[in-house]
Amino acid sequence: ANAIEIENLTKVYKARNGQPAKTALDGVSLTIPRGGFFALLGPNGAGKSTLINIMAGLVMKTSGTVRVWGTDIDRDDRQARAAIGIVPQELNLDPFFTPRELLEVQAGLYGVPRRERRTLEILDAVGLADKADAYARTLSGGMRRRLLVAKAMVHQPPILVLDEPTAGVDIELRQQLWRYVKELNARGTTILLTTHYLEEAETLCDQTAIINNGTVAACDSTRNLLRRL
Ligand code: ADP
Ligand code: ADP
Repeated sequence: ANAIEIENLTKVYKARNGQPAKTALDGVSLTIPRGGFFALLGPNGAGKSTLINIMAGLVMKTSGTVRVWGTDIDRDDRQARAAIGIVPQELNLDPFFTPRELLEVQAGLYGVPRRERRTLEILDAVGLADKADAYARTLSGGMRRRLLVAKAMVHQPPILVLDEPTAGVDIELRQQLWRYVKELNARGTTILLTTHYLEEAETLCDQTAIINNGTVAACDSTRNLLRRL
């Protein structure tokens, strides 16, 4: 079975405020296997964020089919959304929230019963157990990014999606984050990340789709793709 199946997906952003309509995705088809580590590689404006935002239920598609962990988003978008944890690009965090509070609120939003919450375990998995009760404003950029990974994992989704996880991040932090994400994948989580760094896809991902101008230009094992470049 597959984690994600996308068929002929199209997104047209409507014209607005004098901006013309924009076709961000133009007939995208993709299959991401369960347990895989998958990269969407492409330049800015290619349509990567649009694609993951549709999967995550944040943007409405124009046409096409999206199945997440076996559920068609048109049939049950709530169930589809429950299968995905998304780590946004921005590091926005309420400065006076602690990691423990942030994860508790998130668990509440997803209806995770109190006795099933694993707040400290999840914080430990991203190396933040000792910061559970520190204000977010005291956390470094790397800690914030890891906290956002923890937040996305609160409802224990089988799929973790990271939008440009290392954009504007220094090399040490990048490698640290890579380690955590690799470990999550080794424990069974399907990972999908967007990136415009070939190196990131090469180091981490077993499969890569190259997205350009709203279409899939190539999709193969990362090794085969690199051979053809
Ligand atoms: P939908 O087609 O799903 O209704 P919208 O047209 O509502 O999407 O777009 C969402 C918002 O993003 C709008 O407020 C729009 O003005 C804004 N927006 C417009 N152009 C861009 C752009 N190039 N990049 C990012 N956001 C944009
Ligand atoms: P990427 O993540 O690869 O940088 P995006 O999915 O953000 O690409 O954007 C794809 C195209 O759609 C771009 O041309 C962008 O300007 C446009 N776009 C993105 N969001 C909106 C929006 N809300 N409204 C209008 N246009 C948008």
